[in-house]
Amino acid sequence: MAEIRVESLRKEFGSFVAVQDSNFTVEDGEFFVMLGPSGCGKTTTLRMIAGLELPTSGRILLGGEEVSQRRARERDIAFVFQLFALYPHMNVRKNIGFPLLAQGMAKSEIRTRVEEVARLLRIDHLLEKSVSGLAGGDRQRVALGRAIVRRPKCFLMDEPLGTLDSEFRDLMVHELRELHNRIHATTVYVTHDQMEAMSMADKIAVMSNGVIEQFGTPQEIYDRPASMFVADFIGSPPMNFLPFRSGLAKGVREVVVQGASVAVPEVHEDLAPGEMALGIRPEHIRFDDQSRLRGAVYGAEYLGTTQIVAVETADGMVKARVPADLSFRIGEPVGLSLNGARLSVFEKASGRAIRTALLDGQLGGNRHG
Ligand code: ATP
Repeated sequence: MAEIRVESLRKEFGSFVAVQDSNFTVEDGEFFVMLGPSGCGKTTTLRMIAGLELPTSGRILLGGEEVSQRRARERDIAFVFQLFALYPHMNVRKNIGFPLLAQGMAKSEIRTRVEEVARLLRIDHLLEKSVSGLAGGDRQRVALGRAIVRRPKCFLMDEPLGTLDSEFRDLMVHELRELHNRIHATTVYVTHDQMEAMSMADKIAVMSNGVIEQFGTPQEIYDRPASMFVADFIGSPPMNFLPFRSGLAKGVREVVVQGASVAVPEVHEDLAPGEMALGIRPEHIRFDDQSRLRGAVYGAEYLGTTQIVAVETADGMVKARVPADLSFRIGEPVGLSLNGARLSVFEKASGRAIRTALLDGQLGGNRHG
């Protein structure tokens, strides 16, 4: 398996820029997910890594070797498509073994490799069955088997679970990650589904309009979003934003929102006065009668151990995740207390996160305070 390095990668289609100045490294053996809404440039990036699309500029290195202008078949990469095209007239064994047959490998070696992969994917009992009669999940396993059997330098997967129903999808998310833990294949996986990304990835790149907004572990991206786009795209419900207007200076530890002073992680940059927003995840808000930040309960969504309560404030709806046994009435006035150690601060015009002790990861022992 090999490391994938992407340097200043750009793709233009006529005057349209589909991918701009993309930079990231997928370490050897890492499961890397490109996440973002439809049309943000995920597939285009993947196709450039695969060699199915040539970059307008920039470089792609595979195991330290530049492959930017090489054809797909010279890159030793396995691509698992969403619409996994299995050969319907062949059985499972022949479908999995086909790439090896095409390489001219000896039949006995093909047999050994196919059976090894089928055991790994737990489809060895299906080897002599026709693929046309298989259920969605098993078809997907056969497609994966055909990719794995070649022992390529890395795997590229473009929404491979997109066509499965939700039950199979959950199962396959679990199986794919488990398989990865066993074979440690460098993998680039494209999806628009944040739950898939969060449950499978070692690292995630969140993309928007051809730009990587943030690159990091699922926890970094969730806890310390680099932009309002990421904060809003990740999390269900997404991060809340509370607007305020202020200049910020290095060392500030408090801001005023809706007349209430709120403690924030120490600010690490100086900014001219402008529209700002505090960002807070629903689970870091508590109901607190003493708080001057107030609203009225609008509705609640019961989730078993917790509930999501929507509170209407002077600046719009705020959602808090509170214990399920907490009771209140619709319309009841409540105070909201924000966990100061978990607050992000954003500049509204650019959407970027302001550098604070939280974003810079310097909160020390206070992170869960
Ligand atoms: P999706 O999940 O919908 O495929 P995506 O994030 O993978 O989304 P891409 O398929 O990479 O997005 O497409 C990025 C943008 O580039 C889209 O606006 C798309 O219309 C455009 N695009 C992709 N391929 C071409 C092409 N061959 N010619 C012109 N425009 C293209």
